[in-house]
Amino acid sequence: MTDVAERVTIAGAGPTGALLAILLRRRGYRVTVYDARPDPRRTPGESGRSINLALAARGINALRRVGIHDALRDAMVPMRARMIHDRDGGTTRQPYGRRPDEAIFAISRARLGRLLIDIARTAHGVEFEFEHRLVDADFAAGNAHIRDLRRNETIQVPMRPLIACDGAGSQMRRSLRDAGLIDAREEDLAHGYKELSIPAGSDGGYRLEREALHIWPRGGYMLIALPNDDGSFTATLFLPNRGDPGFDTLRGREAAADFLARNFPDALALMPDGVREFLEHPTGFLGTVHAAPWQHRGMTVLVGDSAHAIVPFHGQGMNCCLEDCLAFDACIDLHDDWEARFAAFYALRKENTEAIASMALENYLEMRERVADPGFQLQNALSRELERRHPGRFIPRYSMVMFHPEIPYRLAASRGLVQSRLLARLTAGAASLGQIDFDEARREVEAQLPPIDQALSSVMKL
Ligand SMILES: Cc1cc2nc3c(=O)[nH]c(=O)nc-3n(C[C@H](O)[C@H](O)[C@H](O)COP(=O)(O)OP(=O)(O)OC[C@H]3O[C@@H](n4cnc5c(N)ncnc54)[C@H](O)[C@@H]3O)c2cc1C
Repeated sequence: MTDVAERVTIAGAGPTGALLAILLRRRGYRVTVYDARPDPRRTPGESGRSINLALAARGINALRRVGIHDALRDAMVPMRARMIHDRDGGTTRQPYGRRPDEAIFAISRARLGRLLIDIARTAHGVEFEFEHRLVDADFAAGNAHIRDLRRNETIQVPMRPLIACDGAGSQMRRSLRDAGLIDAREEDLAHGYKELSIPAGSDGGYRLEREALHIWPRGGYMLIALPNDDGSFTATLFLPNRGDPGFDTLRGREAAADFLARNFPDALALMPDGVREFLEHPTGFLGTVHAAPWQHRGMTVLVGDSAHAIVPFHGQGMNCCLEDCLAFDACIDLHDDWEARFAAFYALRKENTEAIASMALENYLEMRERVADPGFQLQNALSRELERRHPGRFIPRYSMVMFHPEIPYRLAASRGLVQSRLLARLTAGAASLGQIDFDEARREVEAQLPPIDQALSSVMKL
């Protein structure tokens, strides 16, 4: 039984902290969330973070659980396909799924964040303290040190417990590591990103197909664009930090304009401020966080990006964090004390988050290079055909990750590996689906891929 007076502290009011606060309040805990930022409902959106995000079934599933999904529906723009833009301005549409409901959704980061905080505060009574930064923790005394940035004073907050949802650069993770209580490392990607914008047309309409995630794959780098609900797109250029081309060499106006015009002439024509934005916008940093374990005694636990930030190429970072919240909530039922709950949460999530971290890295190569390759396109078409012929056995890996929240990431990764080997073998020497030996495909699918329900019954969920 939950002690209704028990207080839980959360550091970080991002999607993870805000959703977790709602789930804990629903269980009767008194919840206070400290965040270093000013109240996002009173200030314009943060700069330097992606303006919009892809929300998929895992995130939607979690938001639905707390009844928030309906309030967001109007703000969500469905993306049903990848639209590949080649160097000559030609386009190829690659549907994401087989069924019309298999779509991912572009959503404004600021709108989602504000809504979560608003609902947490007004509908559930979560207390928020903004402009309060977690600066350190004393694990011997069991206190977190939180700096009130307005009063310029540090307060001591007992960690009974403190749940650290303070993002990829987590102070709590650093404090735990510096105290020798966990192992943690940040694996930097050699590529960074820059956001550019494609405004709405003069009539307010979209200047690219609305319901698609647009990709300009260029081998070593790429540009992508996600729709916003006001007719504009937010584009993101992913490029090596160093080299030619690289963010360090494309410094002046002429070099930037020449690079964009040579590689993305059709996109640049839609970006009246493209060169200025390239020069003025900050270059974002990308990487993967690995930590083990995520908890210390019953005092504190890392949840969300603080435990396992990943690169954004599968559009799963936040989806995975929201799924974390459901897993964390489920672990509360398993045990009576926080230490055991935190350990159960780690056991449930660690391998799954490592699996999505690897798949997200692999997806960068797929997006920037392989999507343009006819061999990949044939394998993609074959995987959808095999899904049609063998439902419940062959599910494309992308679909398992994006549309099937009941399939844990780890299982999606292991079955995805079997499937990718099979696709490579079946398409070897073939130029079209007509040349595929579907009898052999059936034998292999039945031999190598047990029905998904059977596979699910033997793994830990979430
Ligand atoms: C370019 C890019 C594109 C992305 N695209 C997608 C996508 O399409 N789909 C998707 O699912 N995910 C995407 N992600 C990942 C997603 O942004 C993160 O996974 C998600 O925001 C993590 O949520 P979080 O609440 O754990 O951390 P955060 O969103 O980082 O929130 C952390 C909160 O903690 C606060 N904080 C930080 N330090 C302290 C401190 N010391 N004390 C107090 N408060 C603190 C911060 O102010 C913030 O409010 C993308 C990420 C990037 C960089």
